[in-house]
Amino acid sequence: MEHPLPLTTSVRPKVEGQRFPQVGAATPTINQNLTASPSSTSASNNNPSPPCAGQLSLSQAGCSSSSTHLASLFECPVCFDYVLPPILQCQNGHLVCCACREKLSCCPTCRAPIGNIRNLAMEKVAASVHFPCKYSSNGCMQLLNHSDKINHEEGCEFRPYSCPCPGASCKWLGSLDMVMTHLTHSHKSITTLQGEDIVFLATDINLPGAVDWVMMQSCFGHHFMLVLEKQEKYDGYQQFFAIVQIIGSRNQAANFVYRLELNGNKRRLSWEATPRSIHEGVQAAIMSSNCLVFDTAVAKFFADNGNLGINVTISLN
Ligand SMILES: [Zn+2]
Ligand SMILES: [Zn+2]
Ligand SMILES: [Zn+2]
Ligand SMILES: [Zn+2]
Repeated sequence: MEHPLPLTTSVRPKVEGQRFPQVGAATPTINQNLTASPSSTSASNNNPSPPCAGQLSLSQAGCSSSSTHLASLFECPVCFDYVLPPILQCQNGHLVCCACREKLSCCPTCRAPIGNIRNLAMEKVAASVHFPCKYSSNGCMQLLNHSDKINHEEGCEFRPYSCPCPGASCKWLGSLDMVMTHLTHSHKSITTLQGEDIVFLATDINLPGAVDWVMMQSCFGHHFMLVLEKQEKYDGYQQFFAIVQIIGSRNQAANFVYRLELNGNKRRLSWEATPRSIHEGVQAAIMSSNCLVFDTAVAKFFADNGNLGINVTISLN
């Protein structure tokens, strides 16, 4: 589905010897994904850790092939992911993973009632097995304890990247080196400015509802996506969230600092932080206000005719 960000550019001409940051105008996009009520994030609720701390030494160094073999015994017959603690079996001893279990009324292997029988022996074995990362087919060679698996996979460099456009219904997934190609082909209307010091001009900030403004900035051989999002986390209280994400990995992000600054009418509001990686995205940061946050009253102090200019400076860490 095409998700147009109808943006126009007004680039101030460069004057020799003087530093005028370029100004890029970003027009708003209504964010259909955001409703008035705060959307719940699925950050928490990891599997509870297994109750038994006993470790078997089935897979000590040198036995990785037996560990791989053991890991295969934990395969869920429905989704082929691993069945990890807490491990429950049907009355005939068949295992199915927790996610599939919730959708089933009988055992997928023998049709017996799904039951609630805990298999503590398998849980103990699971504690000693090293499982391959979910993205092993993409090249990740890590073998992990089941308790570290989910954490690792969230940050795994081999996890596919999703489209970094906020609020977009775009479902694109791909590798990091394909992200810019995707943006230039599918999100043509996003303005890009060159330079470490630019002005991100959001137009029509008084539009009601959930709205996004997006712009790209290129400097230091990298592309950064500037996002301004307006939403209502609390009933009737609208806030703006401004943040920068690098089209890059977390390691690349750590090399930079971004500064966002509202400036004018004898007032200044600024925020400085490490850019997010598009691999982690901006939604979690916005939910936890880990970005430049201000409400509509503050925005009025800095806005000019319903347009808000945000100075964006990116520097090396
Ligand atoms: Zn499953
Ligand atoms: Zn069964
Ligand atoms: Zn991995
Ligand atoms: Zn996209």
